[in-house]
Amino acid sequence: MAGFVYPVLALRDIVVLPGIVVPLFVGRNKSIKALEVVVEEQKSGDVPKKGSKALQEHLVGEQKILLLTQRDPEKDDPIATDLYAFGTIASVLQYLKLPDGTVKVLVEGLERARVLKMVDRGSYFVAAVEPIVTDIKESDKYEVEALMRAVLSRFEEYMKLNKKITPEIYASLSHIQAPDTFCDTVASHLNLKVAERQEMLEMVSILRRLEKLYHHLGAEIGVLQTEHKVRKRVDEQMKEEKRKYFLNEQIKALNKELNDGDDLGNEVATLSERIEKTKLSKEAAEKAKGELKKLKSMNPMAPEATVIRNYLDWLLMLPWNEFSKTHSDLETAETILNRDHYGLEKINDRILEYLAVQLRTQQLRGPILCLVGPPGVGKTSIVRAIAEATGRTYVRMSLGGVRDEAEIRGHRRTYIGSMPGRIIQAMKKAKTSNPLILLDEIDKMSSDYRGDPAAALLEVLDPEQNAFFQDHYLEVEYDLSHVMFVATANSLDMPRPLADRMEIIRIAGYAENEKMEIAKRHLLPRIIKEHGIKKNEWKISDEAVRTLIQDYTREAGVRSLERELAKMARKSLKQIISKKAKSVAITQKNLSKFAGVKKFSFGEAEKENFVGVTNGLAYTEVGGDLLTLEAVCLPGKGHIKITGKLGDVMQESIQAAASYVRSHGAQLGITPEMYQKHDIHVHVPEGAVPKDGPSAGVGMVTSIVSAMTNIPIHSSVAMTGEITLRGRVLPIGGLKEKLLGAIRGGIKTVIIPKKNMKDLEEIQDNIKGEVEIIPVSTIDEVLAIALERMPKPVIWETTSTGIREKSSKIKGRRNHQERDALH
Ligand code: ADP
Repeated sequence: MAGFVYPVLALRDIVVLPGIVVPLFVGRNKSIKALEVVVEEQKSGDVPKKGSKALQEHLVGEQKILLLTQRDPEKDDPIATDLYAFGTIASVLQYLKLPDGTVKVLVEGLERARVLKMVDRGSYFVAAVEPIVTDIKESDKYEVEALMRAVLSRFEEYMKLNKKITPEIYASLSHIQAPDTFCDTVASHLNLKVAERQEMLEMVSILRRLEKLYHHLGAEIGVLQTEHKVRKRVDEQMKEEKRKYFLNEQIKALNKELNDGDDLGNEVATLSERIEKTKLSKEAAEKAKGELKKLKSMNPMAPEATVIRNYLDWLLMLPWNEFSKTHSDLETAETILNRDHYGLEKINDRILEYLAVQLRTQQLRGPILCLVGPPGVGKTSIVRAIAEATGRTYVRMSLGGVRDEAEIRGHRRTYIGSMPGRIIQAMKKAKTSNPLILLDEIDKMSSDYRGDPAAALLEVLDPEQNAFFQDHYLEVEYDLSHVMFVATANSLDMPRPLADRMEIIRIAGYAENEKMEIAKRHLLPRIIKEHGIKKNEWKISDEAVRTLIQDYTREAGVRSLERELAKMARKSLKQIISKKAKSVAITQKNLSKFAGVKKFSFGEAEKENFVGVTNGLAYTEVGGDLLTLEAVCLPGKGHIKITGKLGDVMQESIQAAASYVRSHGAQLGITPEMYQKHDIHVHVPEGAVPKDGPSAGVGMVTSIVSAMTNIPIHSSVAMTGEITLRGRVLPIGGLKEKLLGAIRGGIKTVIIPKKNMKDLEEIQDNIKGEVEIIPVSTIDEVLAIALERMPKPVIWETTSTGIREKSSKIKGRRNHQERDALH
C-alpha cells in the first residue's frame, strides 16, 4: 500500500480536527480491534498481564490511528464507502479498557489526511493516506492576516454572548500564530453540525476556511443575540409576575390582618372562575377583569366593593351567547296558537304570516308585532303562545307608568342603589340570548323632563342599533339582536315613531256568544284543572254562564268573566271540602248564591225615550261602550256650553253640530228667536272620564235638535258618525267594538255611516244578527230614525220689530235673504 498506512477508527457523530484533544468511547468490535492493534504495535512484546492494573490502562504515545467520520451515524457496521474520504491522523494519548468491555481513549488530532485506499482486514480496516499540507501563498498572506483578526474580533463578541467560552480560551486563541491551527481551534469552539465540521476539515484553502469561520461566527452571534433578547423578555415577564405575586401576597396578608382576607380571596377566586366560564363579549370580559382587579385591592367592607360586587354579579348573571333552540315548524306553531284560543283564527293567521317571513329571512328584521285591543281579549295569552310556538323563553316587561328614560336604560353606577334598566333586567330573567320579550302596555308609557323612554325603546326595537344596546349601568354593549320583541297596547295612542315601527294587529273584543264558547272551551277547563276539582264535582249550566256574562261583567274581553268563574269554583270547592255537598251544580237559579248580587242591570240604555238624550257609541280602552249624549235648552242669550271633560276634537264636533242645526233651523222647525233667547248646554257623562273623537257628531245633532224641538229620541237607537257642516255623515273607526258595546247596552238599532259598510264584511254574522244596522249618508236620515217624529219646518220673515214666524205652509222654500238672516 502506498503512502502512510493506519488502522481506521470509524466515528459516528464527531469530527476531530487537528490540534484538538478529545475523549472517545469505543464499543464496536472493529473499532476496538483497530485500537488494540495501535496500542499493541506500540507496546509489542509488552502485553500487559491479566489482572494487573497495567492491563487496563496504558499511556500510548507515538502510535497513530486514522479517524474517519461516518456519513450516516446510524450505521453499525460501516464499510469503506460509508466513511468520508477525509479524516484526521490522530495519536492515542490514553487507552482505558472499561469493565463492560468497551474502551475509552483520549486522542489528539494531528493532521488532515485524504484516504487513498482502504482495506478490510476482517477484524478492522486499514487505510493508506496522503497527509494534506496547507500552505499559504505569499500573495494571500495579508488577506489571511486580516481575516484572522476579523475572525478573532468576532470570536470576542461571540465569547461575550456564550458563557461556555472563557476569556482564557480567547486569550490562548489570540496567541496562536499559525493560521491552520487558529482555524481548527476556532472551529472546535463553534457549535457546528457534523457535516459543517467535516466541511471545515476538507477545506484545504486557509483563506476559504477563515471566510467560512467568519460567516459561521456571524450566524452564531445572530442566534445568540436573539436568544438573549428572548430570554431577557421572559426574565422580565417572570420578574413582573413575581412582583405581582409578591404584591398580591402582601395584599392577602394585609387583608388577613383585617380578618377578611380569606373571604376576599375566595370571593375573588370564585368571581374569576365565573368570568372565565361565562361566554362574555370581549369588551365585557375586559371590563369584568378590570373590575375584579379593583375589587382585589379594596377593603372588602368598603361601600365601593359592594358596588363592584353587584356590578359583576349583574354582568355574570346575564346570558351571553346562550341560545335556546328555536323551532322552525309553522304547522306546530299554528297548532299551538289555535289550541289556546277561540275565535282568533284571523289574528293567528296574521301572526303566522309574520313568523313565516322571519323564518324565511332567518332574522328578526322588520317591524315589531303589536297586538292592540281592550284588556282581557287574550293579547298576553297569544304572546305566550307565540313564545312557545317559536321555542323562545317568554319574559314580560311592563311599560305601564314608565316615564323615565333610565327605567329603560338604567342608571349610571355612580348613583347609589343604581340598577340596569328593564331591558337588561328582562334579559337576566330570560337566561337566554334569544328570548321573546313582551313589551306590555307600550301605550301607557309617558315622558317627562327625565328624558323620553319611548326614544330609548325605539333604539331597542331598531335592528340596526340593538346589536349594540347600551345600558348606562352595564357600560358595555349588549347584543339584543336575537331577541324577538312583541308589544301589546290598549290603544294606538302612542308616539308616532313608535307606532310606525310596529305592525299593528287589532283584537276587537268578543260578542256574547263568543264569550260563551271561550268560557266553555278554555276558561272552565283551565279553572277546573287549576283548582284541582275532580270530574263530576262541579258543573255550571250554559244559562248561568250567559247570565254571568250579561249581568256580572261589562267588558270587551273575558278577564272579569274568568275571575267570576274562578270565584264560583272556589266557593263550590269550599262546600265540597267542608262536606256540605258532594258536588255542586250551578244553574241560573242558584247563581246569585255563588256570584252575589247582579253588578250591572241588563243594558245601559234607558227604557224610556227622553228629550235631548242620545245613545252615542264610544270606542274606549275596555272596548266599545254606550256614551250618553245630553243636551238641554235653557233660557239665555244664544250661548253654547259644553261639559264632560271633552277633548278638543269632540268640542269642535259639538260646535259643528250646533252650527249645522242653526243653519238648518227652518227645516228643523227652529226659529232664530229660539237661538237668541236660549242657551244650549251639552254634557257627556260620566264627567270624570276623558272623551274625545269626532264620531259623536251625529248624536250631538240629534240631541240638540231634540232639545230645541222638544221631540224625544228613541232610547233603543244608538248611533255613530262624524258630520260635516252640510249634514253629510262621515265614516268612523272601531266599528266592531262599537257594535259589541251597543249589543251589550241592549240597543236594538244602530245607525252607522254608509262608508263603514265595508267593515261589516269582517264582522261575524252572529254580531250582525243581534242588532239592526242601518247605514246612512246624511243627518236627515239619522233624525228620521232616531226622533219619535220629524219636526215641522218653519218659515219666518224679518220685520221692523224683529223676526216673525210666517205660515209654515211653504215647506222647505227659503230665499237667499232668509238664509242670510240665519248667519
Ligand atoms: P290581555 O293581555 O289582552 O289583557 P289576557 O291574555 O290576559 O288578555 O287574557 C285574559 C284571560 O282570558 C286569559 O286567561 C286568556 O287565556 C283568556 N282569553 C282571552 N281571549 C281568549 C280566547 N280568544 N280564547 C281563549 N282564552 C282567551
